[in-house]
This record gives sequence, C-alpha cells and structure tokens, in this order.
Amino acid sequence: MANPFEVAQAQLDEAAGLLGLEPHVHAFLREPMRELTVRIPVRMDNGKFQIFTGFRVQYNDARGPNKGGIRWHPEETIDTVRALAAWMTWKTSVVGIPLGGGKGGIICNPKELSEGEKERLARGYIRQIARFIGPEIDIPAPDVYTTPQIMAWMMDEYEVIAGRHQPGIITGKPLETGGVEGRDDATARGGMFTLRECASALGLELSGARVAVQGYGNAGQHAHRLVTELFVAKVVAASDSRGGVFSEAGIDATELTKHKAATGSVVGMPGTQPIANEALLELDVEVLIPAALEGVLTEKNAANVKAKIVCELANGPTHPEADRILFEKGIYVIPDFLCNAGGVTVSWMEQVQNAAQDKWERERVVKKLDEIMSRAFQEVHRMRTERGVHTRLAAYLVAVKRVADACRQRGWV
Ligand code: GLU
Repeated sequence: MANPFEVAQAQLDEAAGLLGLEPHVHAFLREPMRELTVRIPVRMDNGKFQIFTGFRVQYNDARGPNKGGIRWHPEETIDTVRALAAWMTWKTSVVGIPLGGGKGGIICNPKELSEGEKERLARGYIRQIARFIGPEIDIPAPDVYTTPQIMAWMMDEYEVIAGRHQPGIITGKPLETGGVEGRDDATARGGMFTLRECASALGLELSGARVAVQGYGNAGQHAHRLVTELFVAKVVAASDSRGGVFSEAGIDATELTKHKAATGSVVGMPGTQPIANEALLELDVEVLIPAALEGVLTEKNAANVKAKIVCELANGPTHPEADRILFEKGIYVIPDFLCNAGGVTVSWMEQVQNAAQDKWERERVVKKLDEIMSRAFQEVHRMRTERGVHTRLAAYLVAVKRVADACRQRGWV
C-alpha cells in the first residue's frame, strides 16, 4: 500500500468499524472537505519562468480552524497532502487543542533553489492561496524542507495583501517576526514526553538505552540532542537521505549536527561506520525513531525490527500491515499523530500569543507542552489497554470520536 492517502483511509476504516460510526459520518470523514491546486509562476535566477504546482487541503475544521504545515518536496502529490491533512485532523484532536486539520505542499526540489528563488516561490504560493486561508480559517506552518525564514516571507506576503499585521496567519515563524520560544524543537520535545511516559508504562529504563534516529532534519536532530539531554540515552545510529552512520560507543549530537551543517549529510562523520538506512531500521536498539518521510516500515521489514519502542516523529512512517506485525511482536509504536503532535501544539501556543500580542517564556511553553502530551499519551494508552488494540488504532479511536462528535454537534451530519 504505497499511496499514503490509501493508508490513511485504511486506518480510519478500521477505527470507524470499532467505533460503530454511521456510514454517512464515516464517508464524510474519509475525504477532505476542501482542496485546492494552484500554479505558481516564478522568475528564476536565470531570468526564465518556471511554473510550480502547489496544493492546500483543508481536511476537516469541525473542531477549529484548519491547521497544518507546508511541504516542499520533488515527489509531492495531492494524495500525500490529503493523507497528511487527515493526520493533522486526528493529531489536533488527539491532543485536544481547538484546531482542525490541513496541509499544503509544493512540488519542487528546494536543494536546487537559490534563496531568492525560494522567497519568490513562497510569496507566489501565498498569493495563490491567500483568499482561502486566515488566522480563523486555515493556518499553515513548516514541514519537510520548509523553514522559519520561509514562514516569515509567507507571513509578510499575506500581510501585504491583508494590509495589516496578521502574525497568526502562519506559525513556526522566526523569533523577531512573531515566532515563539520553544517552537524550534517542539516536535522532538513533544515526542520525548510521550517516549518518557511510554517507557515508564513499560518499565523500560531510558538511561543508557540505545537509540537509532532515521532522518536528520529538524525533528531528528533535536530528538538526538534531547534523548541525550533528558534521558542520558545513547544514539548509536543516525541517517539521512544520503545514508547513515553507526557507532556502538554512541554519537555526539552537537558534533553530528555540525558535520551535517558543514557537509550536507551525516555520512562520513568521523569515528563512525557507514550503515544503510534499511539496516538502521533493523538495528538491535531499545528505541527506534523514524523522523523522515512516510512508508519506511512495511510488511517487508517489520518482522526484523528489534526495537522495543518505535517513536514516530515522522508522519506516516508505518504501513498498516507493519502495524499488525509490530503489535504481534510486542513492539510498542507511539503513533505519529500522537508522537509528533508537539509541533502543532506549540504552533497553537504561538497563535494564542499572536492573538493576544503576548510573549511567554520557554519554560511556560515547555511545561504546557509536557502536560498536553503526557495527558494525550495516557488517554491513548488507556484506550489501548481497554480495547486490546495497537496504539495507533487506540489513538484513532480517541481522535476520530471527538471529530465525529464535533461534526454532529454542528449539525453537519
Ligand atoms: N508540520 C507539523 C506537523 O506535521 C506542524 C504543523 C503545525 O505546526 O501546524 O505536525
């Protein structure tokens, strides 16, 4: 099942059955409420125009305005964006923040774009979708290959169109343009709080635990630092799209981040051996952190996973067949839309601060994030125990019920 939207729908179908959702409610939740495809002409540095295709999907806003990031990726498709928008809907619901789910994407290769081209693409995208978004309608944010700088350009373009300050139009902004303390590492930190709760539920000692990190972007790098800082765990392997590195003695987070910044990859880090991405997933470790793209754990490799906990910082890393195999093997998967909900949770705090022209300290953000993530984990864990289902399904049962209730309360279905 390679199409991520089919994966998302199959996951929902299973939950809908267990929840006994009425067929029309199930049908409504199976598809996005609104979706938009746009063409963005951009003058490239060589003077020629290139036309880019972008998407924005507003999946469901029964619980609040649509919310979700924008991915820039050469293989972006409308189905990927649909799947990610669905997962955002379940994500905001499972952590109980008053937002719906949305997602955006642009088909492009950011590694081949200059800074000027990125800025013109960011502004062009906002010009195309401006009339469909807003702080009370749909609020974009960063995701794969989009950065705080890109958020600042997008906010600025929106404000030029609106003719007034509207920092709440987008989250994940830099600190001096409406961004907030604690958003930078929020996705990884939120995941660490669920990992802490999970390890304590399983009676697993995290101090000295071996960890493998697949994917070394924002989430992966911060996760590496935080497992060391918070739990004194040991990252023995890390990888990115070019390959991976392994060291039994453990890899230093600061050094590896520096190496990646200098060379563009984790590959070649002094004091490590090379390891293939596939082999990293099957390493004998306590914790595996997929932090890159969707579809890495499948029916082909799930039986070989040796980790005790899979901490899904990526969106959609595990296929439904793999979920079943991992569950039968007794591996605890902290599912993506619970595990990586820290990003959107702090995005919501950014919006709250923007709306009130307020500024909170990092400690306040981190404390609130801990409360929200820990409570969400416990609710899902309880559902898992009560229903005897795997954790992703338990998270779906909690999240989908809330969205379905909101749709009914509004009289939509
Ligand atoms: N892109 C992140 C996610 O997938 C954050 C979304 C947001 O902050 O709105 O959860």
